[in-house]
Amino acid sequence: MSDVIVIGGGPAGSTAARICAKAGLSTRVLEEHASLGYPVQCAGLLSNNAFVECEVSARSVYNTVRGAKICGSEGHSLSFDAKTTKAYVVDRGRLDHEMAVSAAEAGAEFSLKTCVTKINPVKKIIHTADGEGIPYNLLIAADGPRSVVARSLGISPSPFIYSGIQAEVPWNGDPSLVELHPNAAPEFFAWVIPLSEKRARVGLCGMKNVPDLFAQFLSRFPGSTIHSVTGTIPIGIRRKTFGSGCMLAGDAAGFPKPTSGGGVYTGVRSARSAAQTAIDSFDAGDSTDAFLSQYENLWREDFGRELDMGLKALEFRRNLDPEDIDAAIDAMNTPEILDLIIRFGDMDRPSDLLKRLAMKPGLYGTFGRIGIKGIVRSVFG
Ligand SMILES: Cc1cc2nc3c(=O)[nH]c(=O)nc-3n(C[C@H](O)[C@H](O)[C@H](O)COP(=O)(O)OP(=O)(O)OC[C@H]3O[C@@H](n4cnc5c(N)ncnc54)[C@H](O)[C@@H]3O)c2cc1C
Repeated sequence: MSDVIVIGGGPAGSTAARICAKAGLSTRVLEEHASLGYPVQCAGLLSNNAFVECEVSARSVYNTVRGAKICGSEGHSLSFDAKTTKAYVVDRGRLDHEMAVSAAEAGAEFSLKTCVTKINPVKKIIHTADGEGIPYNLLIAADGPRSVVARSLGISPSPFIYSGIQAEVPWNGDPSLVELHPNAAPEFFAWVIPLSEKRARVGLCGMKNVPDLFAQFLSRFPGSTIHSVTGTIPIGIRRKTFGSGCMLAGDAAGFPKPTSGGGVYTGVRSARSAAQTAIDSFDAGDSTDAFLSQYENLWREDFGRELDMGLKALEFRRNLDPEDIDAAIDAMNTPEILDLIIRFGDMDRPSDLLKRLAMKPGLYGTFGRIGIKGIVRSVFG
């Protein structure tokens, strides 16, 4: 029996497998697809920190960005340029593949085309679509947003299940700025992520009418689209992230950031905590729930507060209408606030900036008015 079994060969699974294998644990990865990294279900925008966390070469990088333009209705927009690289635009297929190669080189064994259908947490057996029963002692479930492991453990899904659609289109614009269009996707935002001066990934996320909203947004970009992407983003941490010898990491645990939908950073960070707990558990010869609770303590200490605050920010955003968005953009479009965004903005850890913005007297009035309107709307519909 392997010391650790990892289900899923995405960024979270490959990171956990690499660290466990490097520490000398016999590690097996079960992955349903025949090749790693495909199909791509991602816009491929990674902050500097997220990219560093992946521990890969620059081979997957298409472009770098320095700032963003936030576009409301006609006449309402703001932009900021940090004049230094803030994020990378990557080919997720290549990135995932490179991460898996690192795990394999560290000694992890990959079993491809191995689809897990359920686990039996009492007998500690993993069942596969081929009818195999694989015994486990420690299991890291990095099996993405529809985690079969979480379902087998009876852990309910994240509170918000968003759908995303994206296409690659011809485009003309500033390749150093990402565009965000909140009014194009009322429950989240739409994005334009430049790949070069001539092409961009355009997409959006939401819970309702997503294909229609996407078709409307896409009509702004004439020309042939290539490479269409669809996928699910679970927002909101599952009520439990460990149990019966299993730890849930990445999207399987509901770790995508509620402010952006990005899940690579938190996925990889959580995988590090899961791998560390697996190593400690092996050393201690203890894989009880009491021991594995260390995992939940580690990730909570790392980014738990960020996700909690992000969820509050998303709930606030879900109550805003286009008029509120325009008012917020106008209120924030001052040299002082833009400077604050450039200095303290962090895609992965937005709480510091949110607190600083909340303390700015110039924003009290607008955000207070919007907040009260939102509360009234959520109470009276
Ligand atoms: C449209 C869209 C755009 C996005 N854009 C960004 C972005 O710009 N930046 C960002 O950081 N994040 C983005 N995300 C989120 C990001 O893609 C995920 O958060 C990230 O991939 C999570 O990594 P993971 O390893 O937890 O899961 P995944 O990458 O989903 O990997 C899970 C792996 O498990 C395998 N698997 C699943 N079920 C089973 C099974 N039963 N048996 C065996 N194997 C199984 C899958 O094949 C897959 O290889 C986006 C998501 C969507 C949908």
